[in-house]
Amino acid sequence: MHKDDILKELESIVPKEIIKVDEPLKRYTYTETGGQADYYLSPTQNEHVQAIVHFAYTNDIPITYLGNGSNIIIREGGIRGIVISLLQLDYIDVSDDAIISGSGAAIIDVSRTARDYALTGLEFACGIPGSIGGAVFMNAGAYGGEVKDCIDYALCVNNKGDLITLTNKELELDYRNSIVQKAHLVVLEAAFTLAPGVKKEIQAKMDDLTERRESKQPLEYPSCGSVFQRPPGHFAGKLIQDSNLQGYRIGGVEVSKKHAGFMVNVGKGTATDYEDLIHYVQKTVKEKFDVELHPEVRIIGEHPTD
Ligand SMILES: Cc1cc2nc3c(=O)[nH]c(=O)nc-3n(C[C@H](O)[C@H](O)[C@H](O)COP(=O)(O)OP(=O)(O)OC[C@H]3O[C@@H](n4cnc5c(N)ncnc54)[C@H](O)[C@@H]3O)c2cc1C
Repeated sequence: MHKDDILKELESIVPKEIIKVDEPLKRYTYTETGGQADYYLSPTQNEHVQAIVHFAYTNDIPITYLGNGSNIIIREGGIRGIVISLLQLDYIDVSDDAIISGSGAAIIDVSRTARDYALTGLEFACGIPGSIGGAVFMNAGAYGGEVKDCIDYALCVNNKGDLITLTNKELELDYRNSIVQKAHLVVLEAAFTLAPGVKKEIQAKMDDLTERRESKQPLEYPSCGSVFQRPPGHFAGKLIQDSNLQGYRIGGVEVSKKHAGFMVNVGKGTATDYEDLIHYVQKTVKEKFDVELHPEVRIIGEHPTD
């Protein structure tokens, strides 16, 4: 399908205001890297998402989902086809011991809402800078808690545009993995079942976790959080630290001196710098300790042509 025809079709199924053409993506990623999306759409209703996904499916147009961009490296060649940002679906509703939120809500805000209603179970998420959709996709977790512990169900759309509701079990949540990844679904909404708690105690736990995070992580720089998954029986950060890689830099990206598991963009770093540094760290750790490091961060998009 020709580019102008795709635009015309998109304008006929969703409001024009939510469509951007050739949109630079670096402004939407925590690493501050990324080329352009052919079409960048920010739907405000679930029905828009369904219509766009159905259109992409029937016309064989690739589709990519974006949450808060905190676990993604987008290459400088950008993304062909349609990119849907879910961030406009950001409602948070509370009833009794349940919280239902749109996939674009920040999990930090959902965690704070739980605290405000004296509901316990989401304290672990008080410093994770992702959206609800990204958190379900990754089964995000920290300090012994994870999405799997408290999610009740997620409302998703499959690759044809059909709505499906998946229970906790059906979501197949595992270490940084879920059916959402495996089946290329998009999350529209998630429901969490929490337990009644004491607001003061919930706040104290969140304060403790925040202090631990701020003292260990290089939050003053752009990054994508922990770059690598935890290899069985090891900690990625420790292996990198013991390989003397802290402070090692390629282009504008450096292995953090504060937390070896993080790579920080210290000045105009590119996705290529990130990828080269990731490969260098993988190679070094493999040579030194015979351990394979697998990225936790998602690396997507086209390589630059020049
Ligand atoms: C400073 C820092 C600290 C971090 N700490 C933690 C931590 O403690 N624990 C942890 O688990 N992670 C952590 N992360 C990583 C990141 O915040 C989480 O993985 C988060 O869940 C990603 O959510 P996101 O909305 O930013 O996803 P994005 O980065 O936008 O996307 C990540 C992946 O999810 C997919 N996706 C996003 N939204 C949807 C959706 N609605 N439907 C389907 N797919 C979707 C995207 O296609 C992509 O493949 C940290 C990151 C940073 C920068």
